[in-house]
Amino acid sequence: MKTAIYPGSFDPITYGHLDVLKNGAEIFDKVIIAVAKNGEKKGFLPVDKRVELIKEAIRETGLENVEVDSFEGLTINYAEKKGADVLLRGLRAVSDFEYEMQLSQTNSALDEKIKTVFVIAKPEYNFISSSTIKEIYNNNGDISKFVPLCVNKFLQEQRGL
Ligand code: ADP
Repeated sequence: MKTAIYPGSFDPITYGHLDVLKNGAEIFDKVIIAVAKNGEKKGFLPVDKRVELIKEAIRETGLENVEVDSFEGLTINYAEKKGADVLLRGLRAVSDFEYEMQLSQTNSALDEKIKTVFVIAKPEYNFISSSTIKEIYNNNGDISKFVPLCVNKFLQEQRGL
């Protein structure tokens, strides 16, 4: 059974992330989407909330071979714990490429079993990023086209609308 880990911040999860996840779920037997806890960065939403929203978004999408989790520390150590040697990541623009290549090569240098598989989301979701979503939301814009229903609903409630 081939398991892949899809690590990231998912702060919050977007349709771009979901499309990458859907592709991964078609390629691998199981995908574990795992929210990385970053001690230094406080984040927009607490990690537990991000996990809860991912679970709801997956229910909305109807994906079955996907698990949701969070982890602390190095991704390669988490992957080993889960018996996975593949990391799933998404590529948007050329600007992502340099960072992703460096990350992938670092992880392979730390653990040569680890391979990173990159997926490009559909054009309609490819440009979406959590940071743009936050920017739009903080300026009272409409984010409904970019995030799953549960994320939009939760954030609207937070705003008291
Ligand atoms: P990180 O902080 O690890 O970059 P993100 O939540 O921003 O976490 O992204 C997780 C992964 O998903 C990254 O590989 C990122 O490039 C990818 N990703 C994010 N948004 C999209 C999108 N719209 N299309 C394709 N890949 C995406």
